[in-house]
Amino acid sequence: MDLLLIGPPGVGKGTQAARLRQALNIPHLSTGDLLRRHVAERTRLGVAAAAHMRRGELVPDELVTAMALDQIHGPSCAGGVVLDGFPRTLTQAEALDTALAGQGRRLAAVLHLTAPDQVLLRRLTGRRTCGGCGAIYHPVTRPPRAPGLCDSCGHGLVQRADDTAETARTRLAVHTRQTQPLLTRYRLTGVLHEIDGCGGVDDVTGNLLAILAPHAVGSSAA
Ligand code: AMP
Repeated sequence: MDLLLIGPPGVGKGTQAARLRQALNIPHLSTGDLLRRHVAERTRLGVAAAAHMRRGELVPDELVTAMALDQIHGPSCAGGVVLDGFPRTLTQAEALDTALAGQGRRLAAVLHLTAPDQVLLRRLTGRRTCGGCGAIYHPVTRPPRAPGLCDSCGHGLVQRADDTAETARTRLAVHTRQTQPLLTRYRLTGVLHEIDGCGGVDDVTGNLLAILAPHAVGSSAA
């Protein structure tokens, strides 16, 4: 089963995608995580992407699409994937549809998580990420047991370079301008579901799984 989690930065796509991966036994593909790995390893792609990411802007379509489709075509995603952060533009969405169709696949559901901008800004600027396993914390909603350290792996927590107030505002504006048009596309094809991302993490996961229950029957994740 191929799924897409879509929504503004800070709405909880990464957190929920990790939970869907566990619940449905489908790999989670985050283009943001992949790009950050390329930046850290100073690959050619990472060097090309870094400045765009630092400014909170999108990395050019051709770079991201090649990277994402390479993963989607790989053996680990052959039974389906939870997409998080890709596609983000109409050009990327068209490339994804074509690639999936070429393998007799299609998006079973597009899950649109929503929250007001002031909630997103509060979440983004307070967010701390584990430098080891990528787990996400927040001083109010999910504080770590030991200050500054990951509960799961003990690594130090860091603030993402693009979670500062100014860059977070840019990312929200970029989302509205470039990613919102995708919703119309997916609404027209009847795969779009709207989910309130403001509730507790467990409540949001429950709502997502309830929407997916009819799709999970007969899939490799069932
Ligand atoms: P994320 O972790 O999903 O918030 O992504 C972090 C940053 O990576 C974004 O602000 C973009 O600069 C870049 N990025 C991730 N996915 C994409 C994509 N599908 N298209 C273009 N840029 C992306």
